[in-house]
Order: sequence, then structure tokens, then C-alpha cells
Amino acid sequence: MKAALVIIGDEILNGSTIDTNAQFLAQVLDSQGILLMRKLTVRDRAPEITHALAQAAQGTDLIITTGGLGPTNDDITKQTITQCLDDELVMDDQVLAHVESFFARRHKPMLESNRRQALVPRRAEVLHNDLGTAPGLWCTWGQKAVVVLPGVPYEMKHIVEHRLLPKLQGLQEAKPIQHRYIHTVGVGESVIANTIAQIEADLPPTIGLAYLPSPGIVKLRLTGLAHGGDDMGQSLADFSRQIADKLGDIVFSTEANDSLPKAIGRLMAQTGKRMGTVESCTSGYLAHMITQIPGSSSYYDGSLVTYSYALKEKMLGVKHATLAQYGAVSQETIHEMAQGGLQALDVDYVLATSGIAGPSGGLPNKPVGTVWIAVADRQGVWPKKFQFNADRVRNIHLTAVMALDMLRRRLMGLA
Ligand code: ATP
Repeated sequence: MKAALVIIGDEILNGSTIDTNAQFLAQVLDSQGILLMRKLTVRDRAPEITHALAQAAQGTDLIITTGGLGPTNDDITKQTITQCLDDELVMDDQVLAHVESFFARRHKPMLESNRRQALVPRRAEVLHNDLGTAPGLWCTWGQKAVVVLPGVPYEMKHIVEHRLLPKLQGLQEAKPIQHRYIHTVGVGESVIANTIAQIEADLPPTIGLAYLPSPGIVKLRLTGLAHGGDDMGQSLADFSRQIADKLGDIVFSTEANDSLPKAIGRLMAQTGKRMGTVESCTSGYLAHMITQIPGSSSYYDGSLVTYSYALKEKMLGVKHATLAQYGAVSQETIHEMAQGGLQALDVDYVLATSGIAGPSGGLPNKPVGTVWIAVADRQGVWPKKFQFNADRVRNIHLTAVMALDMLRRRLMGLA
């Protein structure tokens, strides 16, 4: 099944509202194996909605619109689509009763414009809106279905989850699209592409490979389109395994919705030990990433943010002479920070960060982006120098990602 989205609303087009509806619907369609062919965003104007509907219909079986179903004069989606579908609006008693009780419960007067929300195309099936007054609509247009949904995100989601999904699941027999994910850290996408070039060349036309990079991380997504009697799931699993084997220890997960902090959480839980962080250039950002994971309190004690020389000395016991001789961004200082962190926090593992995030503060021998990170445990301290080349925010993010990777490697016995 192939689909198109028509997102209606001036506020989406002019950028004042971020289009979260399209993102949600695209994910829902993907989860159902429905191929999204295109997305159109249009103003609340009849000619533009009509034109978009015609464009959306090309080569698709399902068109979903959102927005413009409200009671105000600028909400013209329902009238326009009804016209396009050569239908007429009629009062739906059930929707009217719902709208009336909606206002009665709130002790608010119901206006004629609110009454009009109960008008639906004669041939449409109503997708009831428990959370608002504008119903969703399932309309048939020749062989196609046109689904009309309100713009308010939580109302739209509720209708999709409770009314639309069961209908779509009834229509789709099997899920023809499947995905597999391989998450890597610390190596750029071109090096990865080079490493797995032969495997990529061997992929059948029914399997696509996408590289999804973010700072420090590259997520690989294999997408399979079922073809005849192929066992797509098996084929995807085989290629995913081949790629993961070839990439080796830069792969931290092959789960769908995973992240490096989640992977750290799993590894720490296995050890039953506790960890902490001592942060200079990341200043709590590393702690924030770790504590985004539910349950992190079972292995994470906390962070000491030691931005100044004085706090590095006072809280971590870094020697004044070390700071004076080598500076805060040095192997000697990160070593003492990590050791001091183990003592001060009384934990089994510590991650320490110290670097020059920029844009100022660079030195000839320590340019902006110079970062020292250390992982430490009762066996020792492992410091490592990085040279990042990004802006301040990305340098901080990259430092946190690489610190987590150093802990991952230590926990897996790779360092
Ligand atoms: P209403 O009954 O409120 O008029 P509606 O179906 O007419 O609902 P709109 O008027 O288009 O929807 O939008 C209502 C609210 O939902 C607005 O705050 C709008 O910014 C938000 N909204 C609309 N479309 C989207 C979208 N695609 N993504 C995120 N928010 C949206």
C-alpha cells in the first residue's frame, strides 16, 4: 500500500508551528509497512487543498490530511474535500450528540459554528474524536481512501491510535517493509561505507542501506521490501549480522531504538557496580545524557562539575603544580581528575572530561577542540586525547559521546 500526506495550515507553512503531525504519521505508516510516497504542506485555501489532493492521489492508495477541521472560518478542509470527492455534508446525529455533551460538560454555550462540526460527508465513515469536537473522517475516493484528521496533535494521535490503526491493520495482510539497525560510534560514515563496500554491493535490490549520522554516531538502517515469497526478515538479519561482524567493536547495538547511554545502562547493570562523572568542559552534559535513561539511578551516583582550577583542586585533589605546569587540558590533569573522582565519589568507574570547547581559549599547542577524556576504575586510569573540529555545542556533545564510548570499551574489556 502506498500513501501520501497532505498537511494543511498556514502556521506550518510559515514556520511558526513545527510539523510534528507529519513526523508522527510517517512513523505510523512505516510501522504498518505502508510506503509514504510524498508529503505536501499547503495553506488553508480551497484551491491549494484541491490541488494538493490531486497531487497526493497520484500513484497512492491512501491519502491522510491533517488540519483545518475547526469551527472557525479559516478551517475549510472538510468542505473542500467533500467537494473534491463529489459528496455533500450531512448532519451526523452521533457526532452532534458528542459535540453537545462536550460543551454541556464544560458548561459552555454551543454556537452554530460548533454545531457545524457535526456535518460530515454523506459517504464518509466517522472516526470519532474522544478528545475534541472535530471528528476524523474515512472517505472513499474511487479505489482510494482519504483520511481527514484534525490538526491538534493530541487529538490527531488519539484518533490514529484508536480508530485509524485498527482499520489499517485490517487492510494490510503482511508488513512488506522491515528495518534493521546497526549503531556505531567513533568512526565517520565514509570510513564505514568503505569498510562495508563489498557487503553493500552484494545487497539485493529489495534491500536498501541508509547511513544516518549524528555527532560521533552513525546509525545504519537496512530496509527490506518484501518481494514474492522471499523471507525478507531472514535476509535482513543475515546482512545485518554480516555488517555488524565486519564493523567489529565500533558497533554498540543492533536494537531498533537504541542509544549509547542506553547501552551503557545495560552494561553497568550487568556489572552491578556504580559509576560517576567528573566534568570540566562537559559541565554536567555527560551527567544529563546518562540520567536521560530511566533506571540510571541503579548504577549512576552523580557528577562533580569542576570548571575552575580551584574546584579541580578542592573537590578532586588535583595538584596545583600539575595545573600550573601542564594546564587543565592535559594528560596529567585528566589523570588526577579521574583518580580524584574515584575517591571523592567512592564509585567503581569514573569518566573525566577536560577540554577547550571554544570558540575562544585555544592555544598554539592546544587549539579549540582539544579534549582529554579518562575512564578510571580500581585497576587504573586510561586517558585519551581527542581533537574535535566543531563549534562549542558540538564539541561538548562529541566529548560526552566519546567518553561514554571509552566506558563502554572498558566495560566490555576492549580497553
Ligand atoms: P481546531 O479545532 O483547533 O481548529 P484544526 O483541525 O482546525 O483544529 P488547526 O486549526 O489546523 O487544526 O490547528 C490546531 C492546532 O494544532 C494549532 O495550534 C496548530 O498549530 C496545531 N497543528 C496543526 N497542524 C499541525 C501539525 N502538522 N503539526 C503540529 N501541530 C499542528
